[in-house]
Amino acid sequence: MLLGMGNQKKAFYTQLHWQVLGALILGILLGLAAPGFSIRLGFLGDLFLRGLKMIIIPLIFLSLVDGVSGVRDAGKLGRLGLSTLIYYTLSTTLAIITGLIIVNLIHPGVGLRLAEGASLPEGFAPAGGGLGDFLLRLLPENFFHAAAEGAVLPVISFALLFGIFLSRMDSEGSRSVERCVKGALEVIQALTLAMIRLAPVGILALLARVVAESGLTVFRELALYFLAVGLGLLFHFFISLPLLLRFFGGRSPLSYLRAAAPALVTAFSTASSSATLPLTMECAEERAGMPSLVSSFVLPLGATVNMDGTALYEAVAALAIAQMYGVYLDPAQQAVVLLTALLASVGAAGIPMAGLVMLVVVLQAVGLPIEGIATIIAVDRVLDMMRTATNVWSDLVGTAVVTKWSGVSDAGKECS
Ligand code: ASP
Repeated sequence: MLLGMGNQKKAFYTQLHWQVLGALILGILLGLAAPGFSIRLGFLGDLFLRGLKMIIIPLIFLSLVDGVSGVRDAGKLGRLGLSTLIYYTLSTTLAIITGLIIVNLIHPGVGLRLAEGASLPEGFAPAGGGLGDFLLRLLPENFFHAAAEGAVLPVISFALLFGIFLSRMDSEGSRSVERCVKGALEVIQALTLAMIRLAPVGILALLARVVAESGLTVFRELALYFLAVGLGLLFHFFISLPLLLRFFGGRSPLSYLRAAAPALVTAFSTASSSATLPLTMECAEERAGMPSLVSSFVLPLGATVNMDGTALYEAVAALAIAQMYGVYLDPAQQAVVLLTALLASVGAAGIPMAGLVMLVVVLQAVGLPIEGIATIIAVDRVLDMMRTATNVWSDLVGTAVVTKWSGVSDAGKECS
């Protein structure tokens, strides 16, 4: 079903974007009204999450191989790669600059106190290694091991290579492989659609539990800090990204937002870009009519490396911690924060709390004590939900922008 098609005749409550919004509101109300029941109900949310995770690896592999093997022109792939890289850098840098401006205006760290006796969770350290290490981790030593571990980047690299070499062959065998991949992809997509039907239930259960489990007092103590990150994320979500979408992607932000709603609300309730990926891809292709080659390239890659919300958060949190310690970071040091926040967002996995863990890298780069993180941990869950929705929204906006820049299209698909 393409965006807008047939929607007019349907009652609003049968439309998925209204269902997920309803689930969001009901989940919050239920969590407040019946915390005990909501915590037990969380089990349904876990089931939903598991179902999504089950689909990720086959979906990425099959859709990338299918997309790339259909491209006989290498220049097209080059344009796709370059446009993606430019968009990721542009949108993430914009997010960090927004964060830096807000944190310098509001000074959310000035009134904060280092949490007494607070300590960081055990094993709290980001994955080490420099650029060389990162590049090494792009290639799987063993494809099945990477797939079994759910390591998305090496699976993407292998799928790209497999698809490129498949596109260069023209034998009886290679044609069978292409048909096989196409058939398997159709099955996985049907499964994804079925999972999407369950999204409202999963979202309701996950949100009710989060609300039931988090206390409200911590929000009062960290109100200014929460406000600074929240404002930055909202600005990037509702102003900067829609502007990029309108001017570079040529799409109407409102109708695109409606198409993206199921993925965005799922990202918000799961706090995981990776777990949301099957929905993100389905929303891009089926609801917004994006070409599958672009979405199968931009979205899985984006779910691991393009994290605008996380990058913005890293910058605000690092500066708020500096302010808490009474340390003034001059423009040069803030430039270091910008650069490391960018790298940290690339390195952060698409899972809950990954951004918090990567904050260590940013703090160390400007010589701040990492214990400062203990102070802001209390409100991290909700901020994580907000930054994950922003991350996924940026990936979806990127799909439209890259489609426009690279000129890739799907014959027969309607792009409004
Ligand atoms: N949870 C975020 C995501 O999955 C990453 C983060 O913690 O910032 O996109």
